[in-house]
Amino acid sequence: MMEETISKNFIEQIIDKDIAEGKCAKVVTRFPPEPNGYLHIGHAKSILLNYGLAKKYNGKFNLRFDDTNPTKEKTEFVHSILEDVEWLGADYGDEYFYASDYFDQMYEYAVKLIKKGKAYVCDLTPEEIREYRGTLTEPGKNSPYRERSVEENLSLFEAMKNGEFPDGSKVLRAKIDMASGNINMRDPIIYRIARMHHHNTGDKWCIYPMYDFAHPIEDALEGVTHSICTLEFEDHRPLYDWVVQECEFENPPKQIEFAKLYLTNVITGKRYIKKLVEEGIVDGWDDPRLVSLSALKRRGFTPSAIKTFMEQVGVSKSQSSVDYAMLEHFLRDDLKMTRPRMYAVTDPIKLIITNYPEDQVEYLTVTNNMENPDMGTRQMPFSRELYIERDDFMIEPPKKYFRLYPGNEVRLMNAYFVKCHDYKTDEAGNVIEVYCTYDPETKSGSGFTGRKVKGTIHWVSAAQAVEAEVRLYENIVDEEKGVYNEDGSLNLNPNSLTVLPRCYVEPALKDAKPLDSFQFVRNGYFNVDSKDSTEDHLVFNRIVSLKSSYKPKK
Ligand code: ATP
Ligand code: MG
Repeated sequence: MMEETISKNFIEQIIDKDIAEGKCAKVVTRFPPEPNGYLHIGHAKSILLNYGLAKKYNGKFNLRFDDTNPTKEKTEFVHSILEDVEWLGADYGDEYFYASDYFDQMYEYAVKLIKKGKAYVCDLTPEEIREYRGTLTEPGKNSPYRERSVEENLSLFEAMKNGEFPDGSKVLRAKIDMASGNINMRDPIIYRIARMHHHNTGDKWCIYPMYDFAHPIEDALEGVTHSICTLEFEDHRPLYDWVVQECEFENPPKQIEFAKLYLTNVITGKRYIKKLVEEGIVDGWDDPRLVSLSALKRRGFTPSAIKTFMEQVGVSKSQSSVDYAMLEHFLRDDLKMTRPRMYAVTDPIKLIITNYPEDQVEYLTVTNNMENPDMGTRQMPFSRELYIERDDFMIEPPKKYFRLYPGNEVRLMNAYFVKCHDYKTDEAGNVIEVYCTYDPETKSGSGFTGRKVKGTIHWVSAAQAVEAEVRLYENIVDEEKGVYNEDGSLNLNPNSLTVLPRCYVEPALKDAKPLDSFQFVRNGYFNVDSKDSTEDHLVFNRIVSLKSSYKPKK
């Protein structure tokens, strides 16, 4: 991956040069989402890149909704996008923009082009336009309407605006070059007639500008200096440049392309996610198994981990995929030092300390994060009846099993040594209780050195523990088989969600708020689900496990 990166700073090099040549007094960038869906991890790359550049150069970062295509746009998406951009910490200043704010100006620029003889109204049908366009190997041919007079074009365009023609019956086209080697330059359509209700402008317009005409104008009007977009727009750059030049902007913006971020084994396509939502396979766009930003937020990913990840991936001109495990690696790195390490038992069995006084409760001091002493300590109750993990006890252990089994002694984390002398099973033979004795001499922190044990297990005090639901996640698609089946459908992983309905967590977690996150010792990182958790029924999501196979490159 590293070799393919032209330079982490290839965009910065362009900007440095522009500044040195006096072409750019203040750097202005923008993120221009179309409000037709939720943002995903790929968009985060664009947001952080554009915001990061503006910040680095002491410039300005604009957020602009590209709402030139009203049929697909919804206000719901505007809200979620605002939330996601803010969550990532990309400060867009006091206001955000809409492409539709500029519809009047765009209309005026179209008129200007007509007056310059650079645009004409064309009556060809969509099929004819396609036919006349030519192919990659053959030039196109001129429309019979190409030589209409300026006056005729002006009055026809005005009539288009006034609703005098049916939808799709005419278009306004830029007059460039039907023989151009670049198909985008063969008299592209810049306005179409479509009676669509717009979320912002209502029914004011029945003509709408095309993206390739609208976007450069939006950039120029906002004073954007560097219009950074993804590679699929590379072939559109000549048209971008043509528009800003013919509209005679004084300080025209410059389009720069970079490669999209692709993560392995994830789904970002709106079409697929929509289907998963509609079929009830996931519980919304923010289902923790998805990679929309709202899903990652709900799952417990942090903006800082996403940022570090993006910095490490870098900016490049060549397409490549990044391992999802790399994102998790930086997440773990972030959570490791910043989250308290709590005790939670996800598959509980009881442990009874037969020689511990019946009604005694002892409060033990536990360090919140051994690697970060600034995080302080907390008190945790300890008593005669505890819960431990089912797999921390075995009746007949295999070799090298150092946890509890009849006759063996282990440390209860932060507490005492306990030695197992008996256990009880239910009718089906499942262990339900384990009986131990403890040695009061062995209290953690007492400096006891008499003997050592090989196993340490965690626990919670049964009477004070809080019952909770815990959800474990795996990738929504089956990584072994690949994301898509041959017919294009998704290869779903049947084990992507495991619900552990009856877990016990230490009492300090009782007041945890939605999205608060923690390490659960030995089990991973978890957060409080923001949708389903309530005071009476705590729900935790596993963010990531503690370990991964991912090896960061030096
Ligand atoms: P999708 O179809 O995946 O939802 P899109 O390109 O249709 O993405 P837009 O709202 O048009 O979504 O995108 C807004 C900005 O985000 C664009 O500048 C686009 O280039 C950028 N972007 C989209 N996907 C990625 C990605 N995977 N990596 C980097 N930037 C991206
Ligand atoms: Mg798009």
